[in-house]
Amino acid sequence: MIIFNSLTRQKEELVPGEDGKVGIYVCGPTVYGYIHVGNARPFVFFQVLARYLRDQGYDVTVVENITDVDDKIIDRAREEGRAPEKVSRFYSEAYIQDTGRLGLGRPDIEPRATEHIGEIIALCQKLIELDMAYETGGSVYYRVQRFPGYGKLSGQKTDQMKHLEPPREGEAKENPLDFAVWKAAKRGEPVWDSPWGPGRPGWHIECTAMSLKYLGESFDIHGGGRDLIFPHHENEVAQAEAVTGGEFVRYWMHNGMITRKEEKMSKSVGNIFLLREFLKHYDPRVLILFFAATHYRNPLEFSTTNLEEAQAQLDRLRNCYWKMHSVIEETEIVPDGEGAPSGEYLKDAIVRADKEFHAEMQDDANTAGALAALFGLVKAINEYTEEASVAGKADAELLGEARDLLTRFLRIIGIELTMADFVETGLEAELLELVEAREKARDERDYAEADAARDRIREAGYEIRDTPQGPRLVKRK
Ligand SMILES: [Zn+2]
Repeated sequence: MIIFNSLTRQKEELVPGEDGKVGIYVCGPTVYGYIHVGNARPFVFFQVLARYLRDQGYDVTVVENITDVDDKIIDRAREEGRAPEKVSRFYSEAYIQDTGRLGLGRPDIEPRATEHIGEIIALCQKLIELDMAYETGGSVYYRVQRFPGYGKLSGQKTDQMKHLEPPREGEAKENPLDFAVWKAAKRGEPVWDSPWGPGRPGWHIECTAMSLKYLGESFDIHGGGRDLIFPHHENEVAQAEAVTGGEFVRYWMHNGMITRKEEKMSKSVGNIFLLREFLKHYDPRVLILFFAATHYRNPLEFSTTNLEEAQAQLDRLRNCYWKMHSVIEETEIVPDGEGAPSGEYLKDAIVRADKEFHAEMQDDANTAGALAALFGLVKAINEYTEEASVAGKADAELLGEARDLLTRFLRIIGIELTMADFVETGLEAELLELVEAREKARDERDYAEADAARDRIREAGYEIRDTPQGPRLVKRK
């Protein structure tokens, strides 16, 4: 697989440090508010990348942190008149809930900064021992000019760097470039004891401590939004490489920002579209398709037109499965294809889609190209199910092969179709409740109740079939 490495600014072949294993660290959210669609992009993209690598046989570990102590949380707590710990606990739970609804599972490890204070203090101490950091007024600063590679990730010269941390009251920075790895306690802030007195960690050191702990001194992929390259990731490189003396990360991957009316979508600028609100209006899979339709490195415009397109794609997928399902239920399934439409074009489409989907994913995880390959297959399947339905016969093996391939692609992209997708919209909730009621009655050996549920399903125009995979709903003829 080829990936674009932000460090070298070119596409490179992915060669993991350890054969067959890939370690990925992704910068997760700072939990000071509900997350927005822009925060969901790295969450989704790196889960999809991991899914693809797993499909290719790699043993993948995704570590995605939760920043639960930070200036922004403290500011928010002050505004809300709550303790910072309460604010971060509340919003980290909300983050887990909201991203959980996307149906992509969780990262393998989701470390929280506040649970790694010991590791963070040890790193700060090591930096001081190496003369790479110094204490002032109870805070500890990283001595940037002592690290020769500073600027290599963001491609900047130190004399051109902007957005530097201002010194805090009562502290003296040796150089304006220096940044805090440990911050002395202030009133109303969460504090931990340290060799420099009570204080709390700086943001950058948190990610370094957690990534080194879970993925080792040198690991494969570090990801996050493009806006994190400087200073966050630049500082992570400086901290880690000063301590280990080796290469911190082999491949840096950065996703583009979500734009909304030409403006970067970020909580800091108050341009908010919350994931929680989004999911009240759309199926989570619409978001996944919306993301997949654009290469992860490109900016992505959050617009109704783009969302409608993703919604239409989801409908096409549901339709395709519904048709396959109906053909399997309603036509004669011929195991050896005897007398059924031969579907040469479907055989070709399977070969082509398989080749193209992988070629696109291998090329810097181009989900947009992969999606196009997938829909090429959908088109051929639709043609075949149409033909089979007219002929009253279908080639079971061919249709099964097409369906399995489509399902595998969709699983990589992060989409799963469930029984609810095979039922007409509007009816689904009611019918699924009846299916559940019937299952429950059968478990309790209440056959009268089970039959009553079955009859009501029939009245709604559906038949219930028991299969090894569980009950299935089939439209009545
Ligand atoms: Zn980070």
